[in-house]
Amino acid sequence: MAKDALGRRVDYLRISVTDRCNLRCVYCMPAEGVVWRPHAEILNSEEIAHFAALAAEEGIGRIRLTGGEPLVRGSILDLIRRLREIRGIEAIALTTNGTLLPKFALALRGAGLQRVNISLDSLDAEEYARITRGGNLGHALAGIDAALDAGFDPVKVNVVVVRSLGQNLGGFARMTLDRPLHVRFIEFMPVGVIPEADEHPSCSVTSWSRDDVVPADEILATIAAWGVGKGVGGLLPATAGEAPGGWGPARYYRFADAPGTIGVISPLSEHFCAECSRLRLTADGRLRPCLFSDLEFDVRDPLRAGDDERVRALIAEALRQKPESHAERIGTMRHMSQIGG
Ligand code: SAM
Repeated sequence: MAKDALGRRVDYLRISVTDRCNLRCVYCMPAEGVVWRPHAEILNSEEIAHFAALAAEEGIGRIRLTGGEPLVRGSILDLIRRLREIRGIEAIALTTNGTLLPKFALALRGAGLQRVNISLDSLDAEEYARITRGGNLGHALAGIDAALDAGFDPVKVNVVVVRSLGQNLGGFARMTLDRPLHVRFIEFMPVGVIPEADEHPSCSVTSWSRDDVVPADEILATIAAWGVGKGVGGLLPATAGEAPGGWGPARYYRFADAPGTIGVISPLSEHFCAECSRLRLTADGRLRPCLFSDLEFDVRDPLRAGDDERVRALIAEALRQKPESHAERIGTMRHMSQIGG
């Protein structure tokens, strides 16, 4: 079992399979997009799978594929099939904006994907198009249907709440009433935003502000008030059996008799660094021990050189240097889409 220097168990690897995306969410990417890394700089499926196998040897056996948008990567099915073959990999999950799930859901399931999280920040078509800079809400909703129809369990819907976007959260609560959907509200995080943008011209997103963070307790109060207003009652804590099994730090609630649940993830108002079990691999082969820290280890070169010992040593070093906490840290050099959200 992998442990870091503070004794935290680390068994979860988030792999960004591409820095490209078919949406441009306002808080995630600049309007003009980011400069894509050339293909030669991006790890191929064989390289990713080989890294995952070395990590699995250390006991890091839960994998989440993310991006960018993982479903724009042509070889995503091949990658999942490769990962399924690796001894020590216990489960493979995917985070997606859902718009390509109508095309891919069944094939993903057939390839061995087990869990899917769908990111969706608005249920209003115009607002969705505005937030995603041109996305089609119908495609994302069809993606949710496709994920349920394909038999993924659980299907989670992730909503990043940004105060100045003024999202209507009630519609998301309603989604949990008649289908087994697990809606998780996530606090807006200061990733890809740095106060000294001038010193780091590669980072152009400067829109994060503390005022835009809606704390989890406020989100829960809004949802509970919606339930009371609609006559479905207040929020009840979800029992272990009702909450979807998770790899992360969400707290779950539900409305009486609802098949779905409401979760909150509060990286800012309640740090969960003490239980952090993650490492991240960027699409260009950098191993990151913390989302909020720019500390990275280049595993691409040793992977390409076939130097497994060096890769193992870098995994050990990333564990050793995993920061204790992101504390009040604001900003990272890379955008979320480049790190893998
Ligand atoms: N394209 C995929 C998707 O939409 O889920 C995967 C990558 S996306 C970067 C992963 C998640 O990160 C999305 O749910 C997105 O909303 C979230 N995200 C991006 N920037 C964020 C921020 N500053 N704070 C919180 N979540 C953020």
